Amino acid sequence: SLPVVAVVGRPNVGKSTLVNRIVQSRDAIVHESRGVTRDRSYHKADWNGRDFVIIDTGGIESVKSKDTFAPRIREQAVMAAEEADAIIFVVDGSTGITDEDEEVAKILRKQDKPVFLVVNKKDNPATENDNLWDFYSLGVGEPMPLSATHGYGTGDLLDEVVAVL
Ligand code: GDP
Ligand code: MG
Repeated sequence: SLPVVAVVGRPNVGKSTLVNRIVQSRDAIVHESRGVTRDRSYHKADWNGRDFVIIDTGGIESVKSKDTFAPRIREQAVMAAEEADAIIFVVDGSTGITDEDEEVAKILRKQDKPVFLVVNKKDNPATENDNLWDFYSLGVGEPMPLSATHGYGTGDLLDEVVAVL
């Protein structure tokens, strides 16, 4: 079966925008599962001839209650770690690190799947390194600047991801 890449992160960091960019015109939702924490869509993708399935984890977006938020974020990250061969952890370069980012990072540090830390919303390549190194403190590796809306950085990311699949 195809290798699986999961995209995780708190709401609004740009996970779905990134998944849409990666799957581009090929988008075929292979499978969807519904439920508060298990809302996720599985898409077929390929890069440099390597086929894989990419999971957009969206369930926590629909959760409004503040006090149930952290457990759901943790559950999402745990499931991704169990199910995926590689994990793309998306954070928002325009806002900096939040408590929810720390929650996800804590889970990802405790497991041994390869993690790619994407610092999204770096729309201007001239300033892509501003505050980038702050994200090192999440302890999940080297932050990669990217703009899901413009596409900057997606090729470099996918080169690294398919290399571990
Ligand atoms: P998700 O909740 O993590 O799936 O995030 P979405 O993909 O739904 O994006 C949340 C918001 O961030 C939307 O308004 C997107 O248009 C915006 N967004 C996503 N990627 C980028 C980006 O690279 N740059 C900017 N400026 N906005 C982005
Ligand atoms: Mg989404």
